[in-house]
Amino acid sequence: MKLLEERIRRDGQVLEGNVLKVDNFLNHQVDPDLMFAMGEEFARLFRDNGITKVVTVESSGIAPALLTGLQLHVPVIFARKHKSLTLVNDLYTATVYSYTKKVSNEISISRKFLGADDKVLIIDDFLANGQAIAGLIEVCEQAHAEIVGVGIAIEKTFQRGHELITEKNIRLESLAQITAFENGQVVFVDDKET
Ligand code: 5GP
Repeated sequence: MKLLEERIRRDGQVLEGNVLKVDNFLNHQVDPDLMFAMGEEFARLFRDNGITKVVTVESSGIAPALLTGLQLHVPVIFARKHKSLTLVNDLYTATVYSYTKKVSNEISISRKFLGADDKVLIIDDFLANGQAIAGLIEVCEQAHAEIVGVGIAIEKTFQRGHELITEKNIRLESLAQITAFENGQVVFVDDKET
């Protein structure tokens, strides 16, 4: 998606450890127009698949997931990382190791929002080694929900996440695919093709 690639080139900052900082439009300050365009694109890609729920994990997945749910007219569920007093029993849970924070979190979704009749589109901001998506897949499997596909805003194709999802025969759609960081610059898959 050209619009997202241009924005990454303009405002993204390459940090140590293969981390791209995009707090200008996605991870801290959020650009609603860009989120809307991303939601439109995910909705276009998955419109004919009978999606009943969009599932993500807090907090950075919420913006793109919400705008996708808006276009598909289905509810959006965000898995929670901290148990609240009102969210204690009847949960689907999985443990997720965070790529950027280097800690493990338990993520959970209430059983009342996800079940065997659901067809799920999983959305997240980044795909690196696939741990966040693996956790979301696990909670969907606990619910016996059908996973129709995974939509990622920014995928780093040189890390393990892509393989982890596709080897489960789950459809993966990424709006921007980064093949490398070279001298502090982002290289997209599209750059290699042209
Ligand atoms: P994974 O679980 O695929 O290893 O990493 C995905 C999660 O880690 C994403 O939900 C995102 O929050 C975070 N993450 C991974 N790589 C990056 C990155 O390069 N930049 C930012 N800002 N977050 C990342």
